[in-house]
Amino acid sequence: MDFALSDEERAVRDTVRAFITREVMPLEAEVLRRERAHQPGLDHSEVRELQLKARKFGFWGLATPEEYGGMNLPAVLQSLIWTELGRTFVPFRFGGEADNILFHATEEQKREFLIPTIEGERRSCFAITEPGAGSDAANIRLSARRDGDDWILDGEKTFITGGHDADFAIVVAVTDREKGARNGGATAFLVDRSMGWRSEFIQTMGEGGPASLIFDGVRVPHRNILGEIGQGFTLGMEWIGKGRYTIPSHAIGIAERVLQMAIEYANTRETFGAKIGTNQAIQWMIADSETELEAARWLVLRSAWTVDAGLDPRHASSMGKLYGAGMVNRVVDRVLQIHGGMGYTRELPIERWYRQVRLYRIFEGTDEMQRLIISRDLLRGYTKIGGHLA
Ligand SMILES: Cc1cc2nc3c(=O)[nH]c(=O)nc-3n(C[C@H](O)[C@H](O)[C@H](O)COP(=O)(O)OP(=O)(O)OC[C@H]3O[C@@H](n4cnc5c(N)ncnc54)[C@H](O)[C@@H]3O)c2cc1C
Repeated sequence: MDFALSDEERAVRDTVRAFITREVMPLEAEVLRRERAHQPGLDHSEVRELQLKARKFGFWGLATPEEYGGMNLPAVLQSLIWTELGRTFVPFRFGGEADNILFHATEEQKREFLIPTIEGERRSCFAITEPGAGSDAANIRLSARRDGDDWILDGEKTFITGGHDADFAIVVAVTDREKGARNGGATAFLVDRSMGWRSEFIQTMGEGGPASLIFDGVRVPHRNILGEIGQGFTLGMEWIGKGRYTIPSHAIGIAERVLQMAIEYANTRETFGAKIGTNQAIQWMIADSETELEAARWLVLRSAWTVDAGLDPRHASSMGKLYGAGMVNRVVDRVLQIHGGMGYTRELPIERWYRQVRLYRIFEGTDEMQRLIISRDLLRGYTKIGGHLA
C-alpha cells in the first residue's frame, strides 16, 4: 500500500497552490470588502480574467476531454485541485468546464450549448429540485407535454445554483407521469432563457444564492432534448454524482486553511499571561481537527481513486461527502471558538466560512441521504464492510 502522491500529482498540486497563492489570495481583502457591502465578491469579467491567466499555465477544463481543449484529469488529480481551490474563499474556479452531462449532447447541441459553455461565453444551470421534490427527486412535477415538434414546459424549479445568471437551463421534466421519473418518465431539456422562463433570486445565509426558475407554458423544440427521452433522471443522478467528491475535496482545503489560522492564533494570543495554545482545551480542538481532516482526506481521495479505477464510486463517495461535509463544519466551528470574539466578527473571514460550509451538509445530497445510500448498500448486501479491501 502506498499513500504517497505521485510526482505528477505533487507537481500539479504545487503549481495550483502557487497560482492560488500568487493570483487569487491577494484578492481576499477586496472580496470581503465587497461582500460586506452586499456586492458580488468578483464579477464575471474578473473571474474570466483569472481563468484566462490560469489557461496560460495550462489549467483549463480540469474534467473536460482533450478534444474540447480540456485536461481530462483523473479524479484523484481533480480532487487535489479542488482542495487547493478550497484554501481561499475568493469565488474562483478554473475555466473550460461544462456540466458533465452536457457531453451527452448531439453535435448540433454541442455547438449551441457545450462549446460556448466550455469557452465561458454562455452560462448554464442544472435544475432538478422543485418546491415539492428535493431529496425525493423522483417526485418532480414540472411537466413537459408534446405539442407537434415542440414540448411545453410548466412548473417550477427551485434552489438552482447560478439560476439567476444562466443563459440556459438543463431542466429535468416529467414526460410520462404513468412511468414515474425513476422508471423512464423524466427527460432532460436544454432550455434557453430566451424561450421564456424567468428566475427569482433566493437569499441564503451564504454569499450569493440560488434561484427559482418559473416555467409557464415554455415552448421548447424537440431537438433540445438532452440524451434520450426517459433518460432525465439518470442524467440528473449523473450530474449530482460529480459533486460527491468535489464538494468534500473543497471542504478539505477550507479546513486546512482555517486550522492553520487557528494554530497561528493559538501561538500568539495570550490570556492569563500565557499563549492560549498552552491550554489543553485549545490543544484538543486542534488535535481533533487535524485528525478528522486527515481521515476526510483519505476517505475522499479513496472515493476519487474509485472513480479512476472504474469501480462503482457511489458508496465510497457518499461516505466521503458525508464525512467531509461534517468535518469541515466541526473544524470551522472549533476554529471560530479558538478565535473567541474575533472569530465572530466580520474583521475575519471565519464567520463567512462558517456560513458557507453549512451548505455542504445539504446540497447535492443531504447528510441523511448519504447515510441512506451507505446503509442501504450494506443492508442489501451490495457492498461488504471494508469495501474493496475485503
Ligand atoms: C444553495 C443551494 C444550491 C442548490 N443548488 C441546486 C442546483 O443547482 N440544482 C438543483 O437541482 N438543486 C439544487 N439544490 C437543491 C438541493 O439539492 C436540495 O435542497 C437538497 O437535495 C435537499 O432537498 P430539500 O431542500 O427539498 O429538503 P427535503 O428533501 O425536504 O429534506 C428536508 C430534511 O429531511 C431530511 N430527509 C428527507 N427525506 C428523508 C429520509 N427519507 N430519511 C431521513 N431524512 C430525510 C433531509 O435530509 C433534510 O434534512 C441546492 C440547494 C441549495 C440550498
